[in-house]
Amino acid sequence: MNRQAMDLEAYADRARRGPCFVCAFLAGHPDYAHETVFEDDHHVAFLDRWPTVPGKVLVAPKTHIEHVVRDMDEAAYARLMLVVREVALAVEAVCESERTYLYSLGSQQGNAHLHWHIAGLPSGVPYQQQQFHALMTEHGVLSVPQKEAAAMAARLRDAVASRGILRRQDTTRGT
Ligand SMILES: [Zn+2]
Repeated sequence: MNRQAMDLEAYADRARRGPCFVCAFLAGHPDYAHETVFEDDHHVAFLDRWPTVPGKVLVAPKTHIEHVVRDMDEAAYARLMLVVREVALAVEAVCESERTYLYSLGSQQGNAHLHWHIAGLPSGVPYQQQQFHALMTEHGVLSVPQKEAAAMAARLRDAVASRGILRRQDTTRGT
């Protein structure tokens, strides 16, 4: 994987001073556009703009909630996790990843909107470069041309749809 250095200061500034990146994306803010992978009434899944592994996807509830467990009742949590599972299975199918990492981070000081990361570790990454090392933007991010990101999102959308578990809602975002 060819990872390039990321401007971490600019990223932190954007996260801490800018609007909520998920809500801005959902509102159609041009600076917060993302490639949509899946969307229904309550959830949206989209490509990470600064991926550390190929086909890295974020899954978020549409409602601006911030806490990974206490802000949802059991049913809403289960629905969100079903979306995470189905999208992760699509990532495994498309990216042929060796192992799938799932995690929810964020900060009350920036990127507070609850989101899950789905990161498929490619095959052949040396042991020392797996796990946290593979996920940290401090170790660089993949530079993915817009056209390739759009193609990846399309493949993931097809993979989600082909499993037939999640019911998609048509949207004007993405294609
Ligand atoms: Zn939000």
